[in-house]
Amino acid sequence: MMAQYLSLKAEAQDCLLFYRMGDFFEMFFEDAKIAAACLDIALTARGEHHGVAIPMCGVPVHAAEAYLARLIKAGHRVAIAEQTESPADAKKRGGSKTLVSRGIVRVVTAGTLTEEALLDARTANWCVAIGEAGGGVALAAADISTGRFELIETSTASLTTELARLNPAETIAAEDSAFAEVTTSLRPKPGFDSARGDARLRDLYGVATLDGFGQFSRAALAAAGGLVAYLDHNAKGALPFLRPPVLRQSAQAMAIDAATRESLELTATTSGARKGSLLDAVDRTVTGAGARALAADIGAPLVDRAQIEARLDLVQLLCEDSALRESLRATLRALPDIGRALGRLAAGRGSPRDLGQLRDGLDGAWRLGEKLGEILSPARAEPVEARDPGESPLARPSTSSGRTGMELLADLAPRLRGHGALIDLLTRSLVASPPIDASDGGYIAPGYDAALDDLRDAGAGGRRAIAALEADYRARTGITALKIKHNGVLGYHIEVAARVADALMAPDSGFTHRQTLAGVVRFNAPELHEVALKVSQAGAHALAAEAAHLEDLTRTALARREAIAATADALARLDASAGLAERACEGGWVRPTLVDHACFDIAGGRHPVVEDALAKRGERFVANDCKLSEDSRLWLVTGPNMGGKSTFLRQNALIAVLAQAGSYVPASAATLGLVDRLFSRVGASDNLARGRSTFMVEMVETAAILAQATPRSFVILDEVGRGTSTYDGLAIAWAVVEAIHEDNRCRCLFATHYHELTRLAERCEALSLHHVRAREWKGDLVLLHEVSEGPADRSYGLAVARLAGMSPATLARAKAVLAKLEAGRAKTGGIAAGLDDLPLFAAAREEEAPPADPVREALAAIDTDALTPREALEQLYRLKGLM
Ligand code: ADP
Repeated sequence: MMAQYLSLKAEAQDCLLFYRMGDFFEMFFEDAKIAAACLDIALTARGEHHGVAIPMCGVPVHAAEAYLARLIKAGHRVAIAEQTESPADAKKRGGSKTLVSRGIVRVVTAGTLTEEALLDARTANWCVAIGEAGGGVALAAADISTGRFELIETSTASLTTELARLNPAETIAAEDSAFAEVTTSLRPKPGFDSARGDARLRDLYGVATLDGFGQFSRAALAAAGGLVAYLDHNAKGALPFLRPPVLRQSAQAMAIDAATRESLELTATTSGARKGSLLDAVDRTVTGAGARALAADIGAPLVDRAQIEARLDLVQLLCEDSALRESLRATLRALPDIGRALGRLAAGRGSPRDLGQLRDGLDGAWRLGEKLGEILSPARAEPVEARDPGESPLARPSTSSGRTGMELLADLAPRLRGHGALIDLLTRSLVASPPIDASDGGYIAPGYDAALDDLRDAGAGGRRAIAALEADYRARTGITALKIKHNGVLGYHIEVAARVADALMAPDSGFTHRQTLAGVVRFNAPELHEVALKVSQAGAHALAAEAAHLEDLTRTALARREAIAATADALARLDASAGLAERACEGGWVRPTLVDHACFDIAGGRHPVVEDALAKRGERFVANDCKLSEDSRLWLVTGPNMGGKSTFLRQNALIAVLAQAGSYVPASAATLGLVDRLFSRVGASDNLARGRSTFMVEMVETAAILAQATPRSFVILDEVGRGTSTYDGLAIAWAVVEAIHEDNRCRCLFATHYHELTRLAERCEALSLHHVRAREWKGDLVLLHEVSEGPADRSYGLAVARLAGMSPATLARAKAVLAKLEAGRAKTGGIAAGLDDLPLFAAAREEEAPPADPVREALAAIDTDALTPREALEQLYRLKGLM
């Protein structure tokens, strides 16, 4: 056995090996130690290997999923070795001592899960491969729980941004890849060959050429090849369902790098929780699939205006027609997750319940399709209404109906219907709520198969006969507590209490003794044996018949998997849109107007997460305007700590994300030019508590923005430069503002407590000054959270300290120190003294600041005409001294 184990373990390589032994999965050696620690189960020993006891632990097969989940979560990968023949077959093959043959049937990894229990219903589960070929880089991403498959043409520079968007459960690349540090494991190089990838995909989809799916680069084919090879390897040949690949370009979505996602808390907070994120504040979806679609939308806002408008149209339709929205949501709420059910069926791990879910889900989709058809068709008959497109932002030029939202709806509705025959079949064949476990049967509906019905009748008749026998035996023996029971070892048998068993023990009693246990004795009898045989035969035949039906039905359903997946997508889109409409109505949000020039004009903007948090405490959020345009594209925001600077910056970035994701936005009016890249950076000290960010990280990230932001980008910088000394920090902040203003020319909100930066307003024509208002009232600081024009009048630092509860003695001391410092500043001009004389950024760069030469400077400072001969001599000595 150990030899067999070790050869399987060699095959499993770095995976933990679950070795099936009867009702347990056992682990040995190092695997056992790792698993026992991770799962908190007992580590025991079994036998010896080279004279040393073999560490061992095990988990029961029936509970294996829960243990698997924990191991996967902890970052392990698990190879499952099953018995590939029955013990009886092994005996037949080579005698009673023959070892049952075993083989690895599956490798379970974080990126290749389909089990409902191991997946989060509201999150996609991506497995991503990085491919490189011909100088290009591409990603292949598959979510096999739903069959989604994307090929993404990207670049080395955008790679991490793309990965941040997908947030994969697992990332792989070829052994010699340059991207090893962003992967979870490296795989053999041949799998990543583009020609092989091409051939494997053609084979997979049964096509002669992939042109019908798109023009894939060699890198994309390499990535796809590597991914499919990995999935093949993990599924041991039973490749899960992959829909035809969808080709994407990195540039088709707003570029948001990992640091920005984290700092804006788009889909998770900085601590990794979904609660408190933008997604959480926006999500009103009622299905797992809708939640996944919304997460994808928010994670990858669009940059194509027509696509965004189509989504917005549908949201608007559902906002305006609340009856439709409500009935839509009520229907959706009751629907099962057909995408995931399909994924399990396609992976060969489907259950009768999954088929039942398909039936119910498709049936619900059909009903929705009918309803939407009704909305669409009378509308189609109406004459086209002429509208002035410039009329108002809400009255967009619409499709044939005069109602907006029809375009996307007309595209979705047909995808909801068209499974009539399959729904009929599943309705006729399955019981109302089929079980997850097929082994006990009972899921095929009566009336579907006459032969099966007969077998069941025979079984039921037999069970009635057994009940009659029980009554008969009781009467015959006078033992009223006599029972006929059933178990896996004895089958049907008669059981009586030990103290009354003697009567049945007599040789002429007609009963045969089978087993004596503590307190009870078990018997058999010829009549019972006969009836029991009939029951068990009928039962076995019925089970086999049901299993055959299950297989047929699964095959029939899978034949339509592309169409079913398309229906699942359509349902998800409807749910996402209806959820956004619901959120918009709830919060009084508006439809954003998208324009082509780089403006950003938000009236009454709010931060959805902060607003929610304040509302819970019964406080009101103060709405603020933000008005950036091509000639006023940089706002410098100053004001006291806790005044609301960060909140203001972030709410505007979030509004850009929401708008381009196709959502209404928390504002009273919003007009914005499409954003190609979004950046958000927070000064280092904010993050120091987490022990991760340092000033170095802050600088690396800021450098990345300066290198990448374009005039169409939107950048928020919060207290950049504060992670170092005052002089350094001010100098860096100053230079960054100048660079953004002169070079990047992007829209930018820059919050700072360096009051000195306000001097930049005089030299940067597109920069304007703003501050969050505060007032001291009766000695107390009142933070108004209102963004106003102009620089902050003072810093209020001490007032904030008092607000925070600093002791009066400390405050008094701080006041005294401040008075001294301010007196010093008045005399010297403060740390910014002399900054006004700096040449402009562009000019300074051109001159490349010639090296300072003290001799030259001293010479230039000499007023020759005013010198006496003696002074001239002294100057000469001084100059010599400078050499
Ligand atoms: P700063 O960046 O200026 O230090 P923050 O943006 O972190 O300030 O805001 C501090 C707190 O003030 C927030 O946690 C929030 O409770 C409150 N706040 C911020 N903006 C507003 C607003 N517009 N309306 C109401 N309260 C706000």
